[in-house]
Amino acid sequence: MSAHVGFSIHGLAVAQGIAIGHAHLYFQSSLQVIRYSVPDHLLDAEVARFDRAVDKVRHELQELKENVPVGAPPEFAAFLELHLMILNDDTLSGAPRALLRQQGCNAEWALKQQMNSLIEQFMQIEDNYLRERQEDVKQVVERVLKVLMGQVAPATPTHKATEDSILVAVDLSPADMLLFKQHPFQAFITDQGGATSHTAILARSLGIPSVVALHHAWPMIREGETLIVDGMSGVVIVNPDAIILSEYRLRQEQWHLEKRKLSRLRTTRATTLDGTSIDLWANIESPDDVEHAKKSGATGIGLYRTEFLFMNRPDLPGEEEQFSAYRRVAQAMRDHVVTIRTLDIGADKSAESIAQTQSLNPALGLRAIRYCLSEPRLFLTQLRAILRASHFGHVHLLLPMLSQVNELKQTFALLEQAREELREEMIPFNERMPVGGMIEVPAAALALPLFLDKLDFISLGTNDLIQYTLAIDRADDSVAHLYDPLHPAILQLVFTTIQSAHRANVPVAVCGEMAGDPIMTRLLLGFGLRTFSMHPAHVPEIKQNILKTSLSLLSGPVKKILRTYEPDQLESLIGNLNRLAM
Ligand code: PEP
Ligand code: MG
Repeated sequence: MSAHVGFSIHGLAVAQGIAIGHAHLYFQSSLQVIRYSVPDHLLDAEVARFDRAVDKVRHELQELKENVPVGAPPEFAAFLELHLMILNDDTLSGAPRALLRQQGCNAEWALKQQMNSLIEQFMQIEDNYLRERQEDVKQVVERVLKVLMGQVAPATPTHKATEDSILVAVDLSPADMLLFKQHPFQAFITDQGGATSHTAILARSLGIPSVVALHHAWPMIREGETLIVDGMSGVVIVNPDAIILSEYRLRQEQWHLEKRKLSRLRTTRATTLDGTSIDLWANIESPDDVEHAKKSGATGIGLYRTEFLFMNRPDLPGEEEQFSAYRRVAQAMRDHVVTIRTLDIGADKSAESIAQTQSLNPALGLRAIRYCLSEPRLFLTQLRAILRASHFGHVHLLLPMLSQVNELKQTFALLEQAREELREEMIPFNERMPVGGMIEVPAAALALPLFLDKLDFISLGTNDLIQYTLAIDRADDSVAHLYDPLHPAILQLVFTTIQSAHRANVPVAVCGEMAGDPIMTRLLLGFGLRTFSMHPAHVPEIKQNILKTSLSLLSGPVKKILRTYEPDQLESLIGNLNRLAM
């Protein structure tokens, strides 16, 4: 196949740096499809393509049924029969044809739409057995999609990923990203995803460049093509010519040089020009990340996202396994704070062992503390494990997604039960382990006094606070342009939360991505923030900003920013603040 002529694609930059390597197309699940328009004159051909795929799957299933392997379980034949019935039903093999004509879209998309509406109907069924048949519908659809995508896929991923591979995917789940921690790539690029999705956050934690929301990378890029990924501007260049390549090699070197310079700040204390000490803590996803956190110069862990221990496995981690992971972090950080957040599963984070109900708005569903309170045994196991780890270091416990005061009351009752059990079993733990809450739902920020007098500290989760305040799904690239940390509503909420916490003498941190964004450092300092928690890779740059800032000069410009509502003016005022020589 001849190489494409060079071209570039623009997306959202989520993890900085420049990578040069070769494309490796990643097939995740064939249920992942993208929509593209099909012009009227090609619709007949698209319908025919769909029919051929259905025929092919029918043929495959029939063949399997006639040649059931020796030793196959007795229900195997019945299961094939059921799949054939589903495939032959008009709702699956007929309806998508009408849908694709109506919408002028590709067959994969029409089939996926039809599957979603069938699944919704299944969800209404009361009978458990029948309701579970939705899985069979998904499996049949997956078979058809595989055939469809095989016909249009730009390349077959027969090549193996190598050291210089750049992963190209339609979308990646946080669980996929976790697996890639063990198989490093040069960079990741995806067609879907938002800048603060958990996938993007993990890409940052891998310390390699990443661009999301490219929309057309997957269908346009072929396996093995040379790619440049510019994680600063969000540009991907496919098959660059020699001049562009050497230009980017130079930029790549400069980037590494800059990083090396910044890393010299590791042991420098984060102190402002007028002598105020600032805490720079790290966000981690696993005990292995502690090394990176320490190397970055972070002096505590402000957010340990424990849900990643629950992913990519068929079973739940038990108390011993959790305890040993949490203790490892507590011991490795010695007398520095380690903030362990309880399980924040749901929305874009899923685990095989945790059944999640299908929901139209999963981010508004049974997520985080809501899920834990619905599964008290599972929650109690985690609380016991965290309490036990508190004996080995300076452990703080953090509760995600609080919105109701009852959630706190129920959690405190379970915590007391866990303490009681441990006392009886004579297992040591810190009786005074501080308990804090994430302020990441606007209701909690607006009704802060309700929570402040019950918590030992709070931590602002700006990623979700922005998602929920602006009503923008943080993982949805189609609204990613509206995800705006500088929206006046967000600035007001962050400012008032920090100020109210100070007045109530409750320590406050920011652990959302905002804390690691160099554009926000001076503004957050001006809001009164003294504890920032971020991905370790961002610590040196934020420290450098702090070293160049005098708190006494911030209050005038910050007051003006808080009085400003016009986006352009706001942006220019923040730009001025960041350029202000101090
Ligand atoms: C946040 O919402 O800002 C946060 C830190 O939590 P997470 O990104 O894990 O949802
Ligand atoms: Mg959150």
